[in-house]
Amino acid sequence: MKITEHIQNAKETLFSFEILPPLKGENIDSIFQSIEPLMEFKPPFIDVTYHREEVAYTELPGGLLKKRIVKKRPGTVGICAAIQNKYGVDAVPHILCGGFSKEDTENFLIDIDFLGIENVVALRGDAVKNEIYFRPEPDGHKYASELVTQIVALNNGIYLDEELENKSKTNFCIGVAGYPEKHMEAPNLDTDIAFLKQKIDAGAHYVVTQMFFDNQKFFAFVEKCRAAGITVPIIPGLKPLTSLKQLSMIPQRFRVDLPDELISELYKTKSADAAKQAGIEWCISQSLELKKAGVEVLHYYSMGKSESISKIAKAVF
Ligand code: FAD
Repeated sequence: MKITEHIQNAKETLFSFEILPPLKGENIDSIFQSIEPLMEFKPPFIDVTYHREEVAYTELPGGLLKKRIVKKRPGTVGICAAIQNKYGVDAVPHILCGGFSKEDTENFLIDIDFLGIENVVALRGDAVKNEIYFRPEPDGHKYASELVTQIVALNNGIYLDEELENKSKTNFCIGVAGYPEKHMEAPNLDTDIAFLKQKIDAGAHYVVTQMFFDNQKFFAFVEKCRAAGITVPIIPGLKPLTSLKQLSMIPQRFRVDLPDELISELYKTKSADAAKQAGIEWCISQSLELKKAGVEVLHYYSMGKSESISKIAKAVF
């Protein structure tokens, strides 16, 4: 079923979460082990992230460096198929502009359509490690809005090869990313929201936000989006802090601010367990406030670790 249908049919706030494919070489059982404890909260859908290739270097004798292109977390499509098969829950693969030509994109979409996947999150992706700026493939997309346009075209039976006959139409529900604290490259929030509107105008059906730790930022973002004419569901993305180290890692990696109160709660703690508990409690109170405000879905970044998300879901759902 489409995410938008899940939302329309829901009588209360839904629970969903995002997982990462395991590192190459690991077994799919690690994924099932992280999903299983969360199934009691009846997620209507589970997102599976996509990870593009990275540049890696191996040192050769004599100090020379050999450059290799590696994909550390392949398997997004296979995991989606396995989730739908095993749990009967809609799996939502993420798809990127980065590393994909238009033809790769078309083939990816054909694959997931054949597997009965009805939802997809369309993203640009980040610059690869060791590069400052994002670089599209020579025949790829520069922005997520262009990727949305290609998915919509396929939904209308328009393929890259216009001469194909007996064309079948896909029917994807398309999610896109939104940033309550603006995307790191955007000059300001209003400009970023104007580009978010481009993705919706191109045909995206819903927005999932980057993680945030201050609900007021989410509420203000939604208000600005509505004022800009974005009417689709905006799903808040949440992540509990689980260690003191994340106080510097999360803002650096995701360009989000942490509220003073959360920082001092974590610094007050005397052990790793207590710090984790403080992060969980903060996320519970964020979730309860958002639920009270009537958000359609609470979407958690589980990062493959279900223990904290399970504690939060027990308190919220
Ligand atoms: P876009 O919407 O294309 O925007 C990128 C930047 O370009 C923004 O600053 C925007 O303001 C600007 N922009 C947009 N259109 C234009 C235009 N026409 N002209 C000029 N500027 C423009 N990454 C992964 O690698 N794999 C994942 O699975 C993944 N999942 C994610 C899920 C969510 C919910 C979120 C929030 C992020 C996810 N990311 C993932 C990270 C994402 O790929 C990065 O944040 C990336 O840098 C931007 O992607 P986007 O789709 O928001 O890009």
